[in-house]
Amino acid sequence: MKFQAFGLKEQLLANIEAMGFRKPTDIQYKAMRPILGGDDVLAIAQTGTGKTAAFAIPAVENLMRSQRRLHYTGVRCIVMEPTHELAQQSGAVLKNIVVKTGLNVLSIYGGVDQAPQIEQLQKGVDILVATPGRMFDLCSQGYLDVSLCEILILDEADHMLDLGFIGDIKDLVRRLPRHRQTLFFSATINEKIKKLAYSVVNKPVNIRISPKDMVSRNVTHSVLMVNMDEKRFYLERIAKEHPEDRIIVFVRTRVRAERVCKAMERVDVKAVCMHGDLGQKERNIALDKFRLSEVQILIATDITARGIDIPSVPFVVNYDVPDIPENYVHRVGRTGRGMDKGYALTLCDPTEEKETLKEVEEFIGGPIDRMVMEKIEREATLDFSQANKDHDDWQSLIYEEEARRAKEKKPFKGKKSM
Ligand code: AMP
Repeated sequence: MKFQAFGLKEQLLANIEAMGFRKPTDIQYKAMRPILGGDDVLAIAQTGTGKTAAFAIPAVENLMRSQRRLHYTGVRCIVMEPTHELAQQSGAVLKNIVVKTGLNVLSIYGGVDQAPQIEQLQKGVDILVATPGRMFDLCSQGYLDVSLCEILILDEADHMLDLGFIGDIKDLVRRLPRHRQTLFFSATINEKIKKLAYSVVNKPVNIRISPKDMVSRNVTHSVLMVNMDEKRFYLERIAKEHPEDRIIVFVRTRVRAERVCKAMERVDVKAVCMHGDLGQKERNIALDKFRLSEVQILIATDITARGIDIPSVPFVVNYDVPDIPENYVHRVGRTGRGMDKGYALTLCDPTEEKETLKEVEEFIGGPIDRMVMEKIEREATLDFSQANKDHDDWQSLIYEEEARRAKEKKPFKGKKSM
């Protein structure tokens, strides 16, 4: 089925085509008709499935059909996003969708100057994309008129709950007209999310991308059992064997992000990190470097995972198995986006991370394929590493010592490298 089949306006179809979207993804196909028909929607869909366009395209069509009311300078459609990155990204998608439609889009989030945003708000904004915190600030300062808001969209609602935005959401909803359309999107569902959902939607159409699609069909994913100490050699090898490909690497903590980044730089693989300790500006710089392929590897923590939407990233490497199982879905969703194909590899320490991996597999509802590695492959990987070629590198000394003691049948007690 094509986008033409939904009876969208010509300009909107032209914009969709200009964005390179040939046919709707599953979630777009399922969400389009109910949203165009004016229904509330409760959709469970992961990032990477095309969910932004799934709400943005029909919402824009609805706004074009209804037209701004005379003298109303308030906001007609609100898109709430949990993080700055998502607000930027969804704002960018919406800006592409509204080209030459006469509608305007404003993205606002904390960490940037309020004054220009307020100026624009006072002129009238059709679609406002914002994080709850900044939206709440502007509302309580009286800069935000939402009295005739037609559409409320909550994106990644589960993440908003995790970040403690529930109070801000409820406060905003209280200020909105009762007769509005509400589109509630969440990557995961549990009792808490359901409760929030049913407090804001009205007789919603439920859409769920089936659990077997937890990980997008476009992504091939597997696990490789690797000792914690040796993970860096595998990452180096993947990077060097695919020099043209960009790789997003996920680690558990910001300290590890910095360490892995340094380890890669030492072996001449260009890498940059992105974690919660960095300011918004630094995060944007890191993302831009990666987006522009100035570096091959982006090393990120889970906190920043959902904000990364970069097309044509063929590899995700889970350098650590995620502690929170659902983060696996968000991480691997960074590849295979839209219609692209992707590959996600999880490096799992056979002792330390075995249990965590089991939890991930339970969450996604089945085992992840194991990559079988022959002993010879392991040795080849360690040999491959530039770090091990530099004789003064202490890690290679540890391996030499390990080999020597193995011959003498003495257990080696080298300390962990990371
Ligand atoms: P999202 O799940 O909204 O974060 O979208 C994931 C990626 O899919 C983005 O890079 C979109 O540009 C891309 N995308 C969304 N819809 C389509 C489509 N119909 N055809 C091709 N790519 C798409």
